[in-house]
Amino acid sequence: MFCIGVWKKSFKRVFSLTLTGIICLLCVSMPVSAESEGNNNIVVGVPKDRCPIFYCDEETDEIVGIGVDLMREAADEAGYNVTFETVKEESLKDALDNEEYDVIMPLGSAFSSTSGKASVVSDNLFQTPFTLVTLENYELKELNELHVGMLSSLAGGAETVRQLYPDIEITFFETMNEAVKSLRSRNVDALLHNSYVWSYILQKPSYTNLVIHPTAMFSMDFRAGTLDTPEGREIIERLNDGIEAISDTERQAIILDYTSRQLYQFNLSDYLFRYGPLMIICVLLVILISFRFTLNSRTRHFEHVVKMRKLMDYDPLTEILNINGFRKRVEELLRENPDKSYVLSYNNIKNFKYINDSYGMDAGDELLRFWAECAGKNLTELDAVARIEADHFAMLRYVDDVAKLQDDTQRVIDEVSDYFGDRDNKIRVQLSAGIYVLTGDDHRNINVDRMLDCARLAEKRLQESHKEGCEFYNPEQWKTGKMIADVSGHLFEAIENGEIQVWYQPQVDYENNKVDGAEALCRWNHSKLGWISPGNFIPALEEVGLIYDLDCFVWETVCKDLHKWKEQGRIQSVSVNLSRADIMHDADIPELFRDLINKYELNPSQIHVEITETAYVDNPNLLLSMTQKFREYGFSVEMDDFGSGYSSLNMLKEVQVDRIKLDLHFLTETGDQNKGRIIIRYMVQMAQDLGMSLIAEGVENKEQAEHLQSCGCHEMQGYYFYKPMPSQDFENILTM
Ligand code: C2E
Ligand code: MG
Ligand code: MG
Repeated sequence: MFCIGVWKKSFKRVFSLTLTGIICLLCVSMPVSAESEGNNNIVVGVPKDRCPIFYCDEETDEIVGIGVDLMREAADEAGYNVTFETVKEESLKDALDNEEYDVIMPLGSAFSSTSGKASVVSDNLFQTPFTLVTLENYELKELNELHVGMLSSLAGGAETVRQLYPDIEITFFETMNEAVKSLRSRNVDALLHNSYVWSYILQKPSYTNLVIHPTAMFSMDFRAGTLDTPEGREIIERLNDGIEAISDTERQAIILDYTSRQLYQFNLSDYLFRYGPLMIICVLLVILISFRFTLNSRTRHFEHVVKMRKLMDYDPLTEILNINGFRKRVEELLRENPDKSYVLSYNNIKNFKYINDSYGMDAGDELLRFWAECAGKNLTELDAVARIEADHFAMLRYVDDVAKLQDDTQRVIDEVSDYFGDRDNKIRVQLSAGIYVLTGDDHRNINVDRMLDCARLAEKRLQESHKEGCEFYNPEQWKTGKMIADVSGHLFEAIENGEIQVWYQPQVDYENNKVDGAEALCRWNHSKLGWISPGNFIPALEEVGLIYDLDCFVWETVCKDLHKWKEQGRIQSVSVNLSRADIMHDADIPELFRDLINKYELNPSQIHVEITETAYVDNPNLLLSMTQKFREYGFSVEMDDFGSGYSSLNMLKEVQVDRIKLDLHFLTETGDQNKGRIIIRYMVQMAQDLGMSLIAEGVENKEQAEHLQSCGCHEMQGYYFYKPMPSQDFENILTM
């Protein structure tokens, strides 16, 4: 019943609005006098921020709401028109004074305008319930004791409230947001507003913790009003005719129509407030998905690259590296392991053509695969193997344990040679390998093709000599390499265990046959190799950069011995050797020497520093400044192995030394003995002319000693007098 009633009323309203529209249209299309239009139309000034009572319809841009519909209903009943204007004034009190509006709404009761004029109000259109809104869990006090917040546009309503509750305290706010903020910071106890407006406003998501208190409700009238003038009263009377004619059912239908609508429109901040966390999750999800997608495509790309690399770098038949891959891998390994010793071999199956012809290509392929498999068995991640072309293979092997490397190589040779053993005892696979031993230079300037060329050359030499097995491209390097493998990594342990000792070779004054010095020479009694000569292990230590550590040990041992002998009352001087690598390693060696003599309470003149011309060739300026410093500090500098190289004279010209060590060995070993003697004579003469003293080393017989003596060189060192000996033996000589 109720529904039908409401529907009927709505239909009636729509019908009357349409009728009003038609009438308006007719009015526009027909010439109507201003007077008749003025008499029939009442201009109502209203605020438009009181949804759902007065607000602006976003689609039509017209003012709509409960108040509008009620007024239209009244006008319809009494036969006049109403049009609505938004009040521009701050309050309805101001608006009362504006003659543009015939009446203004909504007024609870009559009050004076801002200019002090009295007003007159219409009958009540409907009761508007006013309710309090507080924060959740707020315990409401008596209404009279409350401090409430109201919008300043409700100043008229506030007067009615004050009449009802004289002790109530009211604070006005310009906007609802300000009012809510004040409530949240507990500056006011509650907010007071029309409950229809509340039902709209509280739909805002950020106001969800505000609650309406329906018990604390009071009603206010909803009237139209104007200035109390004869015309004003006449308009009010006309309005009252219409208001009187509105039935309660119609009134309820209008109110229900607006309060049951979902009027609240979400703005951006509302969306953010309500859906913010969800939006963040969505954004994170999108980021995650796109990250996953990128990762997937990267993985696919990487897999593709790996696949391509496999195609480019691997041999499809044997599945080991091809030349391309070998080059890259070798470069990688050498760069990552600059201190490790390596050999590179170039391997060939000598009778491969014969095998192919006799057993067919498939058997040939099988053999190549077998070779790759056998070679691969012994490899570690520090090695590499590749099929370069046809039956040629290359290997890079880390030389850690020389014996093991040899065993591995032999095993591959044996296994592959016997490949056809089951089928045909007569045929043996003939293998040849050229081996190139990598030098320090190969680590510094990596050129894989050059190394392969060297190994290939050695392999060719072997083929030409119709031999099998392997041939070294650089056998001396192999010896050093082998030595490096045996000494590097074992040095410190050897020093600790006393495997390394400092021996002394006495130096004599031939005129009086007295020992007046010695050269310190080190000796290594290797735990695996037995006694090894410095001529072997010193270049190996130089190669791996460990010579400085050995020399520091030698220098300190010499100083200790000198200190000991000094304590025994024998002031001695000793010559110590400085490697070219020492000079490059540490430019502060003179300071180190000074610290040592201070520590062991020696005189700098007790230490003679032997420097070779190779150091001069490496870095003349560095050598020059270092010798200068040694001499400034009082050490004596000697030029070792004079005459053995090509730059001896050059160095002599540039570097100031105190003594020349003439290497007799190089001057007398080969060639015309007589010429050698003449050279010695002139060298002695030259040293005298240059104001330097001279000692001859490598004196092996009386004849040499006599000749030197006759030339004016009395200082001598050599097997003719003494061989290098342990310090204890040298000590015994000193006491003689
Ligand atoms: P060097 O400094 O020229 O030392 C002289 C070498 O000649 C020594 O060889 C010595 O034993 C040898 N010698 C001495 N008299 C004769 C002789 O009458 N005939 C022959 N054939 N040889 C003789 P050694 O001890 O084998 O040392 C070889 C080289 O190793 C040394 O040559 C030196 O350059 C180097 N060396 C030795 N000990 C050390 C050391 O502690 N540190 C450094 N950096 N180098 C060292
Ligand atoms: Mg020497
Ligand atoms: Mg020498």
